[in-house]
Amino acid sequence: MCGITGYIGDKKAAEVLIDGLKRLEYRGYDSCGVAIINGKNELYLRRVSGRVDALDELVAKDPVKGGFVGIGHTRWATHGVPSEDNAHPHTDCNNQVVIVHNGIIENYLEIKEKLSKTGHKFKSETDTETIVHLVEEKLKTLHVSAANARADMLEPVFFEAVRRAIADLKGSFALSVIWAKCPNMILAARQHSPLAIGLGEGGNFIASDVSAFLKYTKKAVFLNDGELAAVKAPSVSYFSFQGKKLDHSPVTIQWDSTMAEKGGYKHFMLKEIHEQPGSVENTLRGRLLPLKGDVLEKEINLPTAVIREIKNVQIIACGTAYHAGLVGRYVFENFALPASVDFASEFSDRAKIINKDTLIIAVSQSGETADTLHAVKEAKASGARVIAITNTVGSTLTREADYVLYTHCGPEIGVASTKAFLGQMTAMYVLALHFAVIRGNIFDTDARIYVDELLKIPRLIEATLAGEDNILKIAGDFAGSEHFLFISRYINFPIALEGALKIKEIAYVHAEGYAAGEMKHGPIALIDKGMPVLAIATSSKMLQLVAGNIEEAKARGAEVIAIVDEDSREHIKASKYIVVPKTLEILSPLVNVIPLQLFAYFIALAKKCDIDKPRNLAKSVTVR
Ligand code: GLU
Repeated sequence: MCGITGYIGDKKAAEVLIDGLKRLEYRGYDSCGVAIINGKNELYLRRVSGRVDALDELVAKDPVKGGFVGIGHTRWATHGVPSEDNAHPHTDCNNQVVIVHNGIIENYLEIKEKLSKTGHKFKSETDTETIVHLVEEKLKTLHVSAANARADMLEPVFFEAVRRAIADLKGSFALSVIWAKCPNMILAARQHSPLAIGLGEGGNFIASDVSAFLKYTKKAVFLNDGELAAVKAPSVSYFSFQGKKLDHSPVTIQWDSTMAEKGGYKHFMLKEIHEQPGSVENTLRGRLLPLKGDVLEKEINLPTAVIREIKNVQIIACGTAYHAGLVGRYVFENFALPASVDFASEFSDRAKIINKDTLIIAVSQSGETADTLHAVKEAKASGARVIAITNTVGSTLTREADYVLYTHCGPEIGVASTKAFLGQMTAMYVLALHFAVIRGNIFDTDARIYVDELLKIPRLIEATLAGEDNILKIAGDFAGSEHFLFISRYINFPIALEGALKIKEIAYVHAEGYAAGEMKHGPIALIDKGMPVLAIATSSKMLQLVAGNIEEAKARGAEVIAIVDEDSREHIKASKYIVVPKTLEILSPLVNVIPLQLFAYFIALAKKCDIDKPRNLAKSVTVR
């Protein structure tokens, strides 16, 4: 999410930064800005709520004088609505220290509270702004009198202030910081958000990805987590967060800039599939511990009293988000809160029987889905309170809902949803666990077990993605099939539906998702020789029954492709196996959907479909 640029050298910074931002716009585009130190060591700051073209016009009208060092940002809001005030770069109280940031600072409220008490004035609602005030505060504690000091003498102090500020941060960040008093150096740091340094002739670059500077140089260093870079025009030095000097050899980038936008992947969808460990991490970030009311109360203003009062949950959503809702239903019910799910477009009549005892959970990646917005209005008219689960800060849904839980997955560009789905499911676990703890439905020690397992999920997704080649091979064997069946039971039944939806959406092949137990009540008649049936058969209280359903399908000629884990495999007899790591059954949808997304992707690839923009579909459906 979001794009950062930085430049120091012999070229005009404004041009380099804005050109870079245009190439990074795919990472976020709700607002943008640049900060440049001009020839007189003054700060030139321009920000707009809107796209980079508008920023370009603004800068062209009133250009910076001189200015060979600066930083830029195109934002995908996580904290605070998209607006000029919330747009980066952000400055300290004296407009001297300036920052751009990509990521989420988990403990920003705590830091903000402390700094406010010591007199810092905040100008935005962002988490980012706390970092720059923190650097200002650290500079103060280092007792620098910058007034008469030479810029080069201030460099170690600036470095130390940023280093100490970073040590206080929890969360994810890629950032670039400049200080008007110290104009020959940009400091850049990385923790769980990407950042690359471009090594050029006569100057050096900073960017969220190399597409921003490939036009100028192909030599790049990718910072690792826990690393800082001091970027100067003639050279770049690297350090650990502890201040230890590090060596980095640059790599030569072979990608062109379109490939670089996709991180070297052929399609955005494949890139987004690979970003899913991060989707889970970002949706969990700062929300699991401590598992008690105030985490939710502080972040989303959802009062503990409401959580105790409600009698049931009604989830409304469309498409893939509806499948996240179906998973959510099992999750809520597992924690003893009755839940139901409806397509937003089918909700109208049911809204009449809703009242204030029901908490509506409305799920939409874009927050603009017309059917969902309409259903929310109807539910509110019946007296229900509404919480939104969405990926888009400032969207219409966030204004209609009483409370909002953001999924923080960053922009999803592929029309077929993948990483947003992971975020939506993760949000369901976060809410259901909090509700269970607050309502006393679960012991703290048991909640801990779920928390620990949830925290492991990103690594399990990585392990699943590592098995991609096997899925590619299996998809190759079935690329000519005209029909697919996806089956499972219990909490993986929605994942069967999602597997079928993915293949319909991007490969234009007929597919059905079915509850495995329902097969014998009709759809088994569809099966004839060679029909591919994808069965999710990971460890489950239902495993024996799923194994039986697989046998029934095979007996009618089906070719079964089984998604199994290391323990369930021996109980399942299939033609092909996709092995995924084992987790708690209730959490298994987060892992099991990954091979199905990849399977659909590879079938669509073999059929040469337009994967990122499937025919007849739009990313967000704003009509009813
Ligand atoms: N959390 C920051 C904000 O909301 C940065 C978001 C981003 O990565 O664009 O402004």
